[in-house]
Amino acid sequence: MTQGLTEPSGRGPAFLLVQEDADFRAGLREWLARELPLRAAGRGPAGRNALEFRRAWEDHICQAGLSGLGWPLAVGGHELSLKRQAIFHEECARAGTPLPVNMIGHGIVAPTLIAYGSEAQKSRFLPRILDNSEIWCQGYSEPGAGSDLAALAAKGERRGDVYVLNGQKIWTSFADISDFCLMLARTGSGPSPRAGISVLLVDMRLPGITVRPIRQITGEADYNEVFFDDVKVPAENLLGEENEGWRLAMAAANYERSTYFVPRVVRMQAEIEQLVALAAQKMRNGRPAIEDPAIRSAITDLGINIHALRLFADQILAAAERGETSGVDSSAIKLMWSENHQRLFDVAMDVLGSEAMLGPQELSGASEGRWARDFLWTRAETILAGTSEVHRNIIAERGLGLPK
Ligand SMILES: Cc1cc2nc3c(=O)[nH]c(=O)nc-3n(C[C@H](O)[C@H](O)[C@H](O)COP(=O)(O)OP(=O)(O)OC[C@H]3O[C@@H](n4cnc5c(N)ncnc54)[C@H](O)[C@@H]3O)c2cc1C
Repeated sequence: MTQGLTEPSGRGPAFLLVQEDADFRAGLREWLARELPLRAAGRGPAGRNALEFRRAWEDHICQAGLSGLGWPLAVGGHELSLKRQAIFHEECARAGTPLPVNMIGHGIVAPTLIAYGSEAQKSRFLPRILDNSEIWCQGYSEPGAGSDLAALAAKGERRGDVYVLNGQKIWTSFADISDFCLMLARTGSGPSPRAGISVLLVDMRLPGITVRPIRQITGEADYNEVFFDDVKVPAENLLGEENEGWRLAMAAANYERSTYFVPRVVRMQAEIEQLVALAAQKMRNGRPAIEDPAIRSAITDLGINIHALRLFADQILAAAERGETSGVDSSAIKLMWSENHQRLFDVAMDVLGSEAMLGPQELSGASEGRWARDFLWTRAETILAGTSEVHRNIIAERGLGLPK
């Protein structure tokens, strides 16, 4: 990715082309202030969180030309600097836009395709991520392979011009609404379990694929079990070299854990402001909760952590602009984001007190429903994209050089 704009991409609102960051921010803020209320009319915080609205808003953003912000111009992106992308996420969080649905497509699949895809794969897949007409999921985890991903057993056997897939994936987010899957399969063997793994781009509508949603503690069913039974994937959908998929999977994981988490860190700044507002409004022992010393102290600690985390995210962005890979920093930001995010919603539950026990369903429609739902959802964040224990191991061994 390069700094600034060299040539306009021809897509999107005029503020994408301005020279100054401040003008970019002002133009975007104005655009969001006009577009979001129009699209979200009549929806409270819970309604804005609904999958169907998240998808509709993401479609709108993409169709307005506000996608592919960091992609090269050559593949239809805007080549915006990471700083401008951070401003974009900051303003979206400030305006209260919902989280995207196709985050795997935009955040993981697209950068992997741009780096490793053939020209034919790029021209087939990238435009449909850009306009959000194809949703992606990521088929890595299996019942016997999570943290130890190299233990994966789903098999892809090359027969003529197809790979025949057999096996099972689990926890596959959005598989039930996805058009394609970035999938890891064992296509060969070698001296280590990491050898013999390939990355396949799998059409989720192929015969032999069964998707079974798994209900979560929030009541939603965002992730799924996916079964592959003699599924024939065209060989042209192999990404990179056969049996060399581990390197690609690790590069994709690095996107997932580093700059991918920056928008979430940025969002936390807006969330803590909302938490302060909630604590000012809710009563506790006859006084606003914000006056309770324990609540004040917990919010202050969080505020300090979130500020430090934001500075850390800026450092990661600056390193990425210089073309440096984030290495252990990507583990650190994922770990710190997920644990502080959980804490933020723990404090929100303390502020809500007994009301919180009603849970998301009973509270839905009311703004409290969103806090209860997100409290439950954030339990997953220390597991997905590598558990806290695994990231602590990486930081200890690779970052601090501690013994295994
Ligand atoms: C909400 C959500 C969405 C997800 N979406 C996807 C998706 O879209 N696609 C996908 O492929 N996967 C997805 N996952 C799966 C996720 O990547 C795995 O859950 C994760 O890698 C952990 O694997 P596991 O669940 O098999 O747990 P295990 O690896 O079996 O771990 C169980 C426990 O053992 C600990 N542990 C394991 N190894 C070590 C070690 N070496 N040292 C110390 N402790 C260890 C873990 O920290 C954990 O506490 C998702 C998970 C969640 C929660």
